[in-house]
Amino acid sequence: MPIVPLYGHAALRERLASAAATGRLPASVLLHGPSGVGKQRLGLWLGALLLCESSPAPCGRCQSCRYAAELAHPDLHWIFPRPRLKDADAGAEEVRQDYAEAISERLAAGGLYARPSGTEGIYVATVRSIVQRAAISPAMAKRKVFVIGDAERMVPQEGSDMAANAFLKLLEEPPADTTLIVTSSEPGALLPTIRSRVVSLRVPPLGEADLRAFLADPLVRDALEKEPVPKSDAERVALAGGAPGTLFGGGERDAARDGAKRILDAAESGDRAAALRIAFQQGATRARGRFTDTLDALEGLLHDRARTKVARGDERGAESAARAVDAVEQARERAAGNVSPNLVTAELMRRLGERR
Ligand SMILES: [Zn+2]
Repeated sequence: MPIVPLYGHAALRERLASAAATGRLPASVLLHGPSGVGKQRLGLWLGALLLCESSPAPCGRCQSCRYAAELAHPDLHWIFPRPRLKDADAGAEEVRQDYAEAISERLAAGGLYARPSGTEGIYVATVRSIVQRAAISPAMAKRKVFVIGDAERMVPQEGSDMAANAFLKLLEEPPADTTLIVTSSEPGALLPTIRSRVVSLRVPPLGEADLRAFLADPLVRDALEKEPVPKSDAERVALAGGAPGTLFGGGERDAARDGAKRILDAAESGDRAAALRIAFQQGATRARGRFTDTLDALEGLLHDRARTKVARGDERGAESAARAVDAVEQARERAAGNVSPNLVTAELMRRLGERR
């Protein structure tokens, strides 16, 4: 079964196709843009285009295109952050197996996946395996293509200098039959040594018509129907903000939003007992990732509110929402320090309560 096709990005696709057709496509490309906007899917599309046996590429019908759409093309290599393997010196075979499993999971989900958790990375064993695979001749096509997603998660590790240097050399001068497509939503966090070796292309958010077409795809429908709280397409369009991938945060994202709503409701209800109870529930130890997600969701809620107030011409309301956003930003700073989530939340609730 193929993964969800690429929606939108028509201008960029045209540009890439024409560059490829005239041999002007750089050997190492960086696709950057907001998280969830479809950079890796676009990278896979470009890979299919480069490997297609017919025209206009990607034709979608040749064997190569079919394999690419089923994530089964032996010359289209997809790399993304993974949990660190137990064996730091894992060999190429272990890495290959780990990715084979991860990719079959993504395939089973139609190519729709949540953003990797903060502990997942592109570790040295993986970097080594990329360099090794790049040195081998293509198995089926005339070329080979590597799509390396979330490349800012490529972590420099002790003792990894050789692998890192070999990778940089690969980026700078890939073999003539190799294209490297690197993607990142935080290009500023990319190693400068990587950034200087790639040609950057910005991937913009999707427009509403493309988003709606994406939401109407049967695979997308299926995946979103499993959500604990079903939403309308209009709600999804608003939530996605041009980045459909963000709709697939799964339960964790919903939990963060629920938590954020509870904090806001309690803070504004003036019910001190409820506020204290919720602050207490945030825990004393730092389950940092989860708490940070809650603060992110809270900031999103407040931004939405500020926009609504501005749209209604309610200046005081907008100002108060903006001050609340400041309070959340300060809470995030304190949480990044050594302050426990329940203390941070208690202080944040006090400040949010003042806004009424
Ligand atoms: Zn084709």
